[in-house]
Amino acid sequence: MAAQIIDGKAIAAKARKALLPRVEALKAKGIAPNLTVILVGDDPASAVYVRNKERAAKELGFLGGVLRLPAETGQEELLTLIKHLNDDEQVHGILVQLPLPGHILESAVLAAISPQKDVDGFHAVNAGRLMAGRPLFAPCTPKGVMRLLAESGIETRGKNAVVVGRSNIVGKPMAMLLLQADCTVTIAHSKTQNLAALCAGADLLVAAIGRPKFITTEMVKEGAVVIDVGINRVGEKKLVGDVDFDGASKKASFITPVPGGVGAMTIAMLMENTVEAAERALAPC
Ligand code: NDP
Repeated sequence: MAAQIIDGKAIAAKARKALLPRVEALKAKGIAPNLTVILVGDDPASAVYVRNKERAAKELGFLGGVLRLPAETGQEELLTLIKHLNDDEQVHGILVQLPLPGHILESAVLAAISPQKDVDGFHAVNAGRLMAGRPLFAPCTPKGVMRLLAESGIETRGKNAVVVGRSNIVGKPMAMLLLQADCTVTIAHSKTQNLAALCAGADLLVAAIGRPKFITTEMVKEGAVVIDVGINRVGEKKLVGDVDFDGASKKASFITPVPGGVGAMTIAMLMENTVEAAERALAPC
């Protein structure tokens, strides 16, 4: 049976629309959510991601914008800028676009962002809170996956979930959120043995690897829910996921496409986290 395709664009549009009354309520109290994005250097993919974030923030009437810094920007200069933004009460969300140029230590930069303004949810405090089941900000991509599941009416309780990929920004927080949603979770990675068999046993399979069409039809269980986080550029313009969509969609019950699946959700969840940050600034918890 052909899988039901999860329309990430539509669900993301719904999530963004649901923010409008919250933004209006904040504005009525004299607060406009402010998301300030820092982009260092001229990585073309990062420039596209940042433009999309900028556009979504503008559409919702946020203040802030993008601070575009040259690739030579020093680490101390960047840390000073972050400190300034941390101290600025008008700023609710700070996002430093990754990857950073090689001479800047990513961990030092992420640690410098105030956890209260860390709308990406990458600060160690926020990672710890997520682990403890009390997230302040859940990272946007895994949070977006959970929203896709909920909006599609997919039951997670007791499901056998396999997350392929263990990065701090996708795989690990994804596994935590699925665990909190009562899945039995396995995290797989490049050293995992018998990966194909492991995936083929999953009721819910999340691929966050960064390898085009790595998850083949044989690795998908009949009736499984397949979530493809991967974004891989193939050739000049084509984007493909980590899952062989054509084959997997013949076996899965639900599947996300690439593009138009998880990617659309990431930005919507960033907007949601920023609104949450602004609401908390008004009524600190
Ligand atoms: P990373 O490169 O940080 O992590 C990739 C993970 O995949 C690692 O844990 C790695 O294992 C694992 N892996 C690599 N090769 C294999 C293999 N042969 N078998 C099993 N596991 C393997 O990537 P990210 O987590 O940052 O991103 C993953 C993908 O998701 C990328 O395509 C990225 O573009 C996309 N992405 C999409 C977003 C969206 O909005 N849709 C947002 C963020 C990312 P190990 O740890 O052992 O090296």
